[in-house]
Amino acid sequence: MPEREKLDADVLIVGAGPAGLACALHLSNLIRQHNESGAKPELSTENIYVLEKGREVGAHQLSGAVMDPRGLKELVPDFETSAPLDTPVTDDCVMFFTEKSALRFPITPPPFKNRGNYIISLSKLTKWLGGLVEKTGVNLFTQFAGANLIYEGEGIAGVITEDKGVDKNGQPKDNFTPGYELRAKVTVLAEGTRGSLTKQLVSKYKLDGLNPQIYALGIKELWEVPAGHVPPGFVAHTMGWPVDMKMYGGGFIYGMKENRVSLGLVLGLEYHDPLFDPHEAFQQFKTHPFLKKMLEGGKLVRYGAKTLPEGGWYSMPRTFVDGGLIIGDSASFLNSQKLKGINLAIKSGMLAAETILDALKSGDASAKTLSSFQKKVEASWIKPDLWAVRNFHQGFHNGVWMGMIHAAFQQISGGRGLVDPMRAHAGHEAYYKLDGPPLAGGERFKGDGKLTFDRLTDVYHSGTRHEEDQPCHLNILEPDICISRCPQEYGNPCEYFCPAAVYEMAREDGKLKLKINASNCVHCKTCDIMDPYQIINWVVPEGGGGPNYEGM
Ligand code: SF4
Repeated sequence: MPEREKLDADVLIVGAGPAGLACALHLSNLIRQHNESGAKPELSTENIYVLEKGREVGAHQLSGAVMDPRGLKELVPDFETSAPLDTPVTDDCVMFFTEKSALRFPITPPPFKNRGNYIISLSKLTKWLGGLVEKTGVNLFTQFAGANLIYEGEGIAGVITEDKGVDKNGQPKDNFTPGYELRAKVTVLAEGTRGSLTKQLVSKYKLDGLNPQIYALGIKELWEVPAGHVPPGFVAHTMGWPVDMKMYGGGFIYGMKENRVSLGLVLGLEYHDPLFDPHEAFQQFKTHPFLKKMLEGGKLVRYGAKTLPEGGWYSMPRTFVDGGLIIGDSASFLNSQKLKGINLAIKSGMLAAETILDALKSGDASAKTLSSFQKKVEASWIKPDLWAVRNFHQGFHNGVWMGMIHAAFQQISGGRGLVDPMRAHAGHEAYYKLDGPPLAGGERFKGDGKLTFDRLTDVYHSGTRHEEDQPCHLNILEPDICISRCPQEYGNPCEYFCPAAVYEMAREDGKLKLKINASNCVHCKTCDIMDPYQIINWVVPEGGGGPNYEGM
């Protein structure tokens, strides 16, 4: 074990996304007010540390994104004067796509009404928030990831950051620097969807909610198009083609200023066909006549993919342990019906900050004190927002038509619907086994290079880069399964579900071999979620690696 430098903090926040930054900023403001009132003990914002694994704040932040500003308004009341808001929503609609036609619904269903919301770049917004946080004296460390939790008693006492300068065989290089041991009175996990530390914590202390977490995968491209092709402020959500009606999913098209359009496909990660390829489905989506015309003469600017925790209230883990809180996407704060999580992430961060202030003032960061976070969540607007959609995603388990029937009953019964609570299963359990000869290493979608692209071209547009000579951050716990059982049973779905072409079944001397192109990874976590045997464990790579979602 290398000798580690030890640092002590009052509060350690892992992840500089909207939840983590809102927690840091609100806590700093509360500490300032507390100190100004002359109350004891005096607290310092310098004892708040934030870790961000991206090369800079915002680099790993990806969303559609249409933001409901409610949370941000509470955090930064005058946000409209300085926040990088791209454009207010001026027109919203839902469209039904068949292969050749697009039908606009005559009225926009309430969950898809977006007037009053803003189309934003989440990357730019978090970068701006990060600047506000740093001005308060908080220590924000980019290019540092939380690799392991420090357990103490029945809770946690901080994290160990990743070792830097380790080669692909696990040996120290000349620039080897051991990770820091960061101890804190309160550690806040704000890692985003399927956080690797959150996964450890939930598993160790059995914090799971009523349902396992269920996910969707969002794949997005940002395009520059000729003037007049998409009005800024136009928001459309699409149903139907190319998403099979037996699946959960749909598209989005958001018109931004400067003739840019953000478009994507969100697909439930509980599909049955192990050979389904979400990236290819998204490429197909762009060939619809409505989109083809919109994108004609334009060019791809950026690409990204991320998973969304869609289980909502019933998939929420216990959010507190001794010395620890879980917030934001990591704790299931996302409304899957409205496709909105930024406002909930910010609010959850603020409520965590209020809870932490009480813990620091009383000197008691036990689970008993931190449990008031859950009470605050239940007393806030988060509860009615999530409670009304508590059965929403599960209702689509048997396809879109059944889902719409369930959604209609849920709409008129305040979320209860026909079955409450509606149970869910982990997405990887939904695969059907293959009924045929083993498939692996086949031809993959290439695209035309103008409207549609292969995955490597898209990865290039995600700005992803990693140090090549480092241990693989995609741990295959039982590699034999990949060449023995998986080809026959599921056809190696890792080759299909990964939107960054990381997994490749190669043939060497006639034998199958799993090749992992880890440096392509855009950190979406789909493999950790959808591997049928749950033998892929995504762990943090060296800090600073990963995508660069600047402007996304
Ligand atoms: Fe996503 Fe896993 Fe592929 Fe990385 S390797 S891009 S986390 S599916």
